[in-house]
Amino acid sequence: YGEYENTIDYVFKIVLIGDSAVGKSQLLARFSRNEFSLESRATIGVEFQTRTVTVDHKTIKAQIWDTAGQERYRAVTAAYYRGAVGAMLVYDITKRVSFEHTQRWLEELKSHSDTNITIMLLGNKSDLGSLRQVPTEEAKEFSEKHGLFFLETSALDSTNVESAFLSVLSEVYRLVS
Ligand code: GDP
Ligand code: MG
Repeated sequence: YGEYENTIDYVFKIVLIGDSAVGKSQLLARFSRNEFSLESRATIGVEFQTRTVTVDHKTIKAQIWDTAGQERYRAVTAAYYRGAVGAMLVYDITKRVSFEHTQRWLEELKSHSDTNITIMLLGNKSDLGSLRQVPTEEAKEFSEKHGLFFLETSALDSTNVESAFLSVLSEVYRLVS
């Protein structure tokens, strides 16, 4: 019966996008391995991480792609977006410019991906509330205007990280099932 228990029903590709240093790699480390590091270092060699979750009694393997520093050179390629069914568009609540750039990332994403891709806007670093430069309400309005899901997260203290990824995976599942 072990084989049956290990059966993967779906593999969903999810991409992380957003400016450099907003916390994409740490969100992924938190979700895939429950790890966090305050040292920022570019991801080298690993294109994606996986984690298998259960949604509605189905086994879903989330294959989550990280930009590996390419965002610094605006060099995120078409191959990165190819086949993605979900996207986490991340900004840093303490860096206003990273929120302003989400518009550009959204355009980039839409030009490269399938029209019904599920997109979650994430205001990361919610643990740094005293340094906040982006009001929650403003980001909420932006997400409603563009039909995005929205959550504020902290890869450091884990707030909403699990819910963010699970919401996207559930929504994608809902769309394909
Ligand atoms: P990336 O370039 O978007 O992949 O960003 P990283 O994941 O490398 O994170 C950039 C820096 O922000 C690192 O020093 C992280 O430790 C830090 N960081 C990431 N997420 C959080 C968070 O939720 N809270 C705080 N306080 N720092 C974070
Ligand atoms: Mg990174």
